[in-house]
Amino acid sequence: MNKRWNGQYSCFDLVARSDDGPRSVVQVGDIAIGGDEFVVMAGPCAVESEGQVLDTAVSVARAGARILRGGAYKPRSSPYSFQGMGVEGLKILAKAREVTGLAIVTEVMSETDVDVVAEYADIMQVGARSMENYSLLERLGTCGRPVLLKRGMTATLEDLLCSAQLLVASGNPDVILCERGIRTFETATRNTFDVAAVPVLKTVSHLPVIVDPSHAAGVQMLVPILARAAVVVGADGLLVEVHPQPEKAASDGEQSLTFEQFDAMMADLDPYLSLRAAAEKACAVAGGLA
Ligand code: PEP
Ligand code: MN
Repeated sequence: MNKRWNGQYSCFDLVARSDDGPRSVVQVGDIAIGGDEFVVMAGPCAVESEGQVLDTAVSVARAGARILRGGAYKPRSSPYSFQGMGVEGLKILAKAREVTGLAIVTEVMSETDVDVVAEYADIMQVGARSMENYSLLERLGTCGRPVLLKRGMTATLEDLLCSAQLLVASGNPDVILCERGIRTFETATRNTFDVAAVPVLKTVSHLPVIVDPSHAAGVQMLVPILARAAVVVGADGLLVEVHPQPEKAASDGEQSLTFEQFDAMMADLDPYLSLRAAAEKACAVAGGLA
């Protein structure tokens, strides 16, 4: 462990990485997150209708995604925005899993919804706004499903690891960390993608780390480029918003990729993934990075 961070994070002993300790792999059916495969989770910001979710699921599965995302319970910045379809939305996601074989990741916002979301979801998403909802995290300790923990918009990496520690201490070892951009003074992007967060988290913690380039960018055109950056810095996967008609999306249309854009992004990532695998192999032969 780099001395710079050793003292700062070693108090989070359940999620901190020891020098020779193994990395943890979160298993979801036959999908191993944090292993050799780069796992892409994709789908709409919010579940809006059966047709929208099924069409998206079929398309992203064909392009190589392994997990379908889609919010049935939506934390919105305005109380007047679309709040999600609730249980109806969860049923639509389950139908898409049946049709495509994709696993499901969906957000849980409240302790009272944990049981119903766990009944339908394969991975429980904790959103940026809930990262410090400690009673929700404690309850998720015994939900029996892996948790995708998103970094809060104003959370330091220490804050993120503190929440991860609470999840594990509450009984759930299957935690996936997600960098989704943080709030800074910059306004050109919706959030600022903290690219260094990925290698720092992978150095100080044994947990898998994925990147959400959609909420980091806030605009479609930057999503594939930030996804490339995520590959290069060693992320274990992506969480990407995709919509059949982004201009008509009930939420986050501006940052949602069309099916064609998602196909192009997946094809674009291939050479970067091959290069990364070759570089890691060469590095291991040379005895690893200092
Ligand atoms: C989402 O994934 O749609 C979402 C609400 O993300 P975040 O919690 O990162 O804002
Ligand atoms: Mn969204």
